Amino acid sequence: MRKVHWLDQQLYIVDDVETEVCQECGERYYHATTLDAIDRMLQAGRQVIKQELQVHVVAMPA
Ligand SMILES: [Zn+2]
Repeated sequence: MRKVHWLDQQLYIVDDVETEVCQECGERYYHATTLDAIDRMLQAGRQVIKQELQVHVVAMPA
């Protein structure tokens, strides 16, 4: 599954992330060990960058 992931003020989109399914409500979620593995991969700088995107940050008008 594709996950939006923040680390050290940097936003990443990580593809092919393994998900778990809640036995009670069926909702998909990420196991804590999976999130830790993403952090370690990004911190090690060994990830393969597939694409770079320009992102616009907007706010709702008051
Ligand atoms: Zn649930």
